[in-house]
Order: sequence, then C-alpha cells, then structure tokens
Amino acid sequence: MAHSHEDHSGHDHVWAPDLTKNQGLVLGTLAHSEAPLSAYDILDRLRGDGLKAPLQVYRALDKLVERGLAHRLESLNAFVACADEHCHRKGMIAFAICESCGKVDEFADTVIEERLGDWALAKGFKVARTTMEMRGQCAACIARAS
Ligand SMILES: [Zn+2]
Ligand SMILES: [Zn+2]
Repeated sequence: MAHSHEDHSGHDHVWAPDLTKNQGLVLGTLAHSEAPLSAYDILDRLRGDGLKAPLQVYRALDKLVERGLAHRLESLNAFVACADEHCHRKGMIAFAICESCGKVDEFADTVIEERLGDWALAKGFKVARTTMEMRGQCAACIARAS
C-alpha cells in the first residue's frame, strides 16, 4: 500500500458522503494505489468510469487536496490519498517517500511547523505554502535488500 494504513476500503475519506462522483472516483483510485499517482495516471485508470478530460481530474484533485483528503507531492508532481483522517487538522505535514517501492508515509509535526513559522516571522517572510518531503528507502525495502 502507498500508505501506513493497511486497508483503505473502510477508510472514512473514500466514502465521505458529500464528495461529488468524480471526487469519489479520484480519491478511491488514489486510496487503492500502491504508489503516488500523477493526474494522468488517475485519468488512465478512470477512463472506464466516464472521466475523459484532464480538467475533470484536476478539479477533483484540487478539492480533495483543499480538504486534506489527498496530498500533492511536489517533488514527484503526484498525489496520494491522505493516510491519516485527522492530518488536515494538525497543520503541516511531512512526507517520507520510498524511492524503491513508492510507499509514502506522512506525519504531522508541530515542532517543525513552529520552527519554520518562527523563522518566517523573524524574517518577515510571508509563507504561502510549505512542503516537506524526504526521499530515500523505507524500512521494509532496507530489510529486503540486506
Ligand atoms: Zn494526510
Ligand atoms: Zn520501500
């Protein structure tokens, strides 16, 4: 799985009742993917479900990201379903991306958030967006290699 959750089938996000059909399809696709997906990967997988235009996927992704149900990984230009139903209430999220298997773990850390916030405040820097992505190998891949 692409996330720390073992099974997304019972995940609240996927079945959030107020999602549009397209949002539900896109989130479901992300939730069941082993690795992050680009908008075009998502479109490829959903052609059979009636999605034809990249714009439909981008619109759905925008909403899902805005609500914290999915995240955009800047360094990969790809998306993952949120692995933690409360993460969007915790503020800043950091990602650990395995370059071998594609697994993405996410965590929220208030200490990092405070540090960066303090720095920005001290410098008078107006933050629009912060991304934290670690690239490397997950524990499972390291264990498999040794
Ligand atoms: Zn999340
Ligand atoms: Zn891995």
